[in-house]
Amino acid sequence: MAEETAVTDTDADRHPHTEQLTFNFKGGDSAELAQHLTGRSLSRRLPALVGRSLALAWAVERGSTIALLTCQVVSGLLEALGLFATTSALSALIQSARDPAHLRAAIPSIAVLAGAAGLRAILAIAIQGLSNRLGPRIAREAEFRMLEAATNAEMAAYDHPGFNDRYDQASRGVEVSRDMIGQSQNLVSSLATLIAAALVIGALAPVLLPLLALTAVPRALASVAGERVAYLATLRTFHDRRMLSMLRWHLSHKDQADQVRTDTLAPYLLDKYRSSGARVDRTNDEAAWQQARISLLGSAVGGLAAMLLWAGVMVLLGTGYISAAAAGTLVFALRSAAGGLHGIVGYGADLMRTGRYMDDWEAFIAEAAGQRLDRGNIVPGRPRYVALDRVTYRYPEADKDTLHEVDFEVRQGEIVAVVGENGSGKTTLMKLLSGLNLPTSGVVTWDGVSTRDLDPHTLWRQCAVVPQEFARWPMTARENIQLGQPQPGADDAVQHAAAASGADAVIAVLRNGLDTLLAREWWGGQALSSGQWQRIAGARAIHRDAGLLVMDEPTSDLDARAEHRIFSGLRELAKERAIVLVTHNLANTAVADRIVVMQAGRVSDAGTFTELTSRPGLFRELWLLQHDRAHPAT
Ligand code: ADP
Repeated sequence: MAEETAVTDTDADRHPHTEQLTFNFKGGDSAELAQHLTGRSLSRRLPALVGRSLALAWAVERGSTIALLTCQVVSGLLEALGLFATTSALSALIQSARDPAHLRAAIPSIAVLAGAAGLRAILAIAIQGLSNRLGPRIAREAEFRMLEAATNAEMAAYDHPGFNDRYDQASRGVEVSRDMIGQSQNLVSSLATLIAAALVIGALAPVLLPLLALTAVPRALASVAGERVAYLATLRTFHDRRMLSMLRWHLSHKDQADQVRTDTLAPYLLDKYRSSGARVDRTNDEAAWQQARISLLGSAVGGLAAMLLWAGVMVLLGTGYISAAAAGTLVFALRSAAGGLHGIVGYGADLMRTGRYMDDWEAFIAEAAGQRLDRGNIVPGRPRYVALDRVTYRYPEADKDTLHEVDFEVRQGEIVAVVGENGSGKTTLMKLLSGLNLPTSGVVTWDGVSTRDLDPHTLWRQCAVVPQEFARWPMTARENIQLGQPQPGADDAVQHAAAASGADAVIAVLRNGLDTLLAREWWGGQALSSGQWQRIAGARAIHRDAGLLVMDEPTSDLDARAEHRIFSGLRELAKERAIVLVTHNLANTAVADRIVVMQAGRVSDAGTFTELTSRPGLFRELWLLQHDRAHPAT
């Protein structure tokens, strides 16, 4: 049963001042829209789109592209040849009605006609095959370029509003890019048909050409106007469509599936889903209705013009301006022309639509390229000294600084713990130390060289980072530790790192040891608990044997034994590394040579564990609070 969607009051209706998600979409620019969707732009834009699809095809396979173009041109020429042959064949056939001896004269033209038709059929199959071959390759190339652009962008790009939204939009461009070559090819072939027919009509009765144009223009204009309506509807529904996809993810993804149930949240989220869906449907219905009216108008005017055209043929025949054979050919040519026109309008509209998505794809690549990792090329060695000098950092588009004039240093052989309350800037500090982000002002140096001047990829090879949200790669245990970069000693090095983080106990119970797939169960992997995963992530960082080891809450999910193992092993690891450690468990900071206390983006204190616990300050306060909770009844 088609259920009527009831739009209930949303939270936003009940609390009008509540903040709304802002999805950022560049295509909403009406000037850009006007430029892309007017009748005049059609003549410029369509060739550009065909050019773009051919350029992509050229980039993936030159041979097939040349073959495709050749088949197109030959097919168009054969179409014209066939139409011209029609005239002589018809004239011979008409004469043979009076004198059967003329029938023989028709044979060559009929042979040409049949030959051209047969060849065109073969060429059509070749064209289809070549398009099918190129389409998926083009889509892969488009996706590759997008992924390459994304992975080569500065991390900060992800903090720019709309970067992720535009990535999603660009993915749609990738999806449709496979259709582009087929649409271009259909458009060109329709154009070839039209040109061939127009040539024949022009040769037989040029006076009909303006009338032919008159049948085409209203339909083309109606198509462009219809596209504009559809595009505007896409823009108006953008926010709700993004909302739908976000809700879809939150309602169905395993990560929060437990809370959707225990918090009995599903009805609330489903209600939001219904409301957004209903708004999308309403806008689309209005657009579809408007498009239907525009099409009707275009077809009516085009139909009237077609009547005039046919009347013209009758007048020409009646006045003896053209022969019966020519009139017959004109009928064929006009039908061909109508087919060509129909194709141009239809495929043109398809191509325009695809082109719009491809614009989003191109815009994303340009945006990511604008934020490409463009740093120096000094190659860093194993760092002996990493420091921040009066570093201030502000996230893109944020209205205040997250770090203010922070000074910080860590040397090889040293363990520095960073503590502070939530939001004090510890994670941001880690991102700057490891060269993921560059400071807004001040300088982060590795052995005295600014991270701006260092080659980022070599720098990261000297970095082992365990972030709070570490990746759980759907790969084997070995790959999850080695990350495709085996150390000398191969599995021995893996086992050694695993032993240092407590991951050895995890591997020991895996059904197939290091060869066990750690993907999600439904991909055939063996599921691990959060703590088990954290041990693997620890092993990953230790295995990396990098000069700077940065750990952001590396033991938050670990049991006491595993945590003890990691911390008691740190001193040994620090012999050849500089280690920076963020932790909320202040007892763990006792292992550090120095503790840095962060408060509201500043370093508020620093010292050894004994110094900080024995003098008043945030550290002592937090330490006593933790202590207090451990022994509540005093
Ligand atoms: P901590 O690790 O100490 O909890 P963070 O360094 O993660 O703190 O964050 C410090 C502050 O920086 C946060 O309160 C937040 O305001 C801001 N912040 C963090 N990440 C971003 C981001 N991607 N974009 C904008 N602001 C951010």
